[in-house]
Amino acid sequence: MPLPESVDLAVVGAGIVGLASARALLAAHPGLDLAVLEAEDRPAAHQTGNNSGVIHSGLYYRPGSLKATLCRRGREALYRYVEERGIPFERCGKLVVATRESELPRLEELERRGRANGLRDLCRLGPAGLRDHEPGVRGISGLWVGCTGIVDYVAVARAFAWDIRAAGGAVYLSHGVRAIRPDGQGFVLETSQGRLRARYLVNCAGAHADRVARLAGERPTTRIVPFRGEYKLLRSPRRHLVRGLIYPVPDPRFPFLGVHFTRRIDGGIEAGPNAVLALARHGYRWTDVNPRDLVEILTTPGMLRMASRYWRTGLAEVLRSLSTPLFARALRRLVPAIRTSDLEPGGAGVRAQALDPDGTLADDFRITTAPRAFHVLSAPSPAATASLAIGESIAARAGDHLGL
Ligand SMILES: Cc1cc2nc3c(=O)[nH]c(=O)nc-3n(C[C@H](O)[C@H](O)[C@H](O)COP(=O)(O)OP(=O)(O)OC[C@H]3O[C@@H](n4cnc5c(N)ncnc54)[C@H](O)[C@@H]3O)c2cc1C
Repeated sequence: MPLPESVDLAVVGAGIVGLASARALLAAHPGLDLAVLEAEDRPAAHQTGNNSGVIHSGLYYRPGSLKATLCRRGREALYRYVEERGIPFERCGKLVVATRESELPRLEELERRGRANGLRDLCRLGPAGLRDHEPGVRGISGLWVGCTGIVDYVAVARAFAWDIRAAGGAVYLSHGVRAIRPDGQGFVLETSQGRLRARYLVNCAGAHADRVARLAGERPTTRIVPFRGEYKLLRSPRRHLVRGLIYPVPDPRFPFLGVHFTRRIDGGIEAGPNAVLALARHGYRWTDVNPRDLVEILTTPGMLRMASRYWRTGLAEVLRSLSTPLFARALRRLVPAIRTSDLEPGGAGVRAQALDPDGTLADDFRITTAPRAFHVLSAPSPAATASLAIGESIAARAGDHLGL
């Protein structure tokens, strides 16, 4: 389908956030002439298609934050959506396990946050309770979170793309946006397959969101730093060691959750992901090196401060990435029977982590406005869970901000 000359609104990025935003904009503003532009030849090619597939509960997030509010709203909307659309999912619950006395205050804080975030199906467990849920787990205390679930986010993203087309919008795959010229009436977007004029712009470019914002004339202070999360798979004869989702108590200084076990909707058990600095914005392996990205990563304002703050954690993550025995050792803290030989290589995802100039890893979602535009500058986990709510919040603000 060739690009039209102009549309009312262009969304950059057909990840789950761009698709959910486009879908919600069309629902709120019927008749809107909308195009989603995606660089890859399929939707959900990056973070959305390489994530853990967890429908998060909202346990971890600071009460009142965007993450807390939108995760809670998005989770229930997502459960309703996948049920209606017949997309396989399971509300299987998850276990957060403390294995050391020193983790107990953090577990208390998680429970407090969970309750403040409206989770009613939280249950504090002792060692026996932990084993009732997960016989392979050894821990001193834990939390059972009943409303956590699993789903295939690629299937969800595909369904969103179908909704967009059914509502009169268009999704242009293999149309990477290379340049954007604001012209007072909107934007002229140069794509890999032609030019498109749009009165309004919604930037949901994930790992490239800061670049797309800069192309559109903005000067965002945050930069995206890519962190790869690598998975191992539990070999099938050992899958009985894990029934569902088993997480450690996370380190609150770090935005990632620590290596954990996740049952996938297809029945496989994944272990991971870890978090290592990627050498390209789409750096799925150590050998994926993009010189432009690498120079930008290393010279990003705040990078040095971040590195000096987290180098110990970062080094441990790199060692775990290079050594399966060390990976297995981290997993044994939760499930002692895990052996190195139980693990085989799995896939990887790359997180688009926004970094502030003072070296702080941005924690909350960041959605900024500019004349005629929205920029989703940071949509880390749980943005897949929260996608329907993120889309609705952009659509709700679009009336006032864009004058739709
Ligand atoms: C390892 C890992 C595990 C995770 N686990 C979970 C989980 O279990 N549950 C959960 O809720 N969240 C999870 N997340 C987070 C979640 O996957 C992301 O928050 C979410 O997918 C972000 O969606 P997005 O649309 O913003 O980004 P993406 O899915 O990355 O989409 C951005 C899109 O923009 C396109 N694009 C970029 N630049 C351009 C351009 N110039 N022109 C056109 N297109 C462009 C890209 O090709 C891409 O398709 C995880 C993330 C990772 C990486």
